[in-house]
Amino acid sequence: MSEALLIDNLSVTFGSFKAINELSLYIDYGTVRAVIGPNGAGKTTLLDAVTGKSPATKGRIILDGRTELTELKEPEIVLAGVGRKFQKPSIFEALTLEQNLALALRSASRSSIAEMFHRPGSEELARIQTVLETIGMAGWGDRSAGILSHGQKQWLEIGMLLMQEPRVLLLDEPVAGMSDEETDRTAELIMALRTPERAIVVIEHDMGFVERIADRVTVLHEGQLLVEGQMEAVKVNPRVVEVYLGR
Ligand code: ADP
Repeated sequence: MSEALLIDNLSVTFGSFKAINELSLYIDYGTVRAVIGPNGAGKTTLLDAVTGKSPATKGRIILDGRTELTELKEPEIVLAGVGRKFQKPSIFEALTLEQNLALALRSASRSSIAEMFHRPGSEELARIQTVLETIGMAGWGDRSAGILSHGQKQWLEIGMLLMQEPRVLLLDEPVAGMSDEETDRTAELIMALRTPERAIVVIEHDMGFVERIADRVTVLHEGQLLVEGQMEAVKVNPRVVEVYLGR
């Protein structure tokens, strides 16, 4: 089986500044990869390059061994199977959970405004129910998203991504601002989403959380790969300790 994501000699340049500098890595299906590194290391820019938000200046990003994401525009990358959750949820608080999930599905298929607000058909409803179960909110379909807690809003947004059945899921600091209990539930959710057909990439500062969820950890520093491996080894690696302590 080909890897979910291949980053091949990627550079992303802003003016003369290389935020990502000839970076190569690959991420297998069925795994969770954490991307860590000090502020300014290039973590966000790497995800921005995958989603087409900050286009590659050099190199290629290949999905599933065949789709060259670096040739595509942002909406095409979503349709190709890449879902990204930003730190701040972009749910519609005035709508119900079911309506939010239905909209997430339809916006990907470029429905007209009128189509966006049709009542969901039975197939769509079944998919919505499955996603609600996955995110631990079965039976909540007709509640307003505005009443959800911070953690629940984050899970709903993950649910909105799941409506499009992404093969690569990119999560930007998924437990920022969460309580310990919400963090635990998010770890369980990410483990449940780590199916053989999917790869998950997480940017995260909470190292305890990284240790719980990540199969492998990529440490970036100044736009380059510093170290890659399992968290146990990475966290005691002298080069990693050095960049984190700034020595
Ligand atoms: P991280 O997510 O690891 O904190 P970023 O990817 O956000 O790092 O940023 C990497 C570097 O690129 C930083 O020095 C940042 O200032 C710079 N950078 C990011 N985006 C832009 C941009 N749009 N224009 C100019 N510089 C940018």
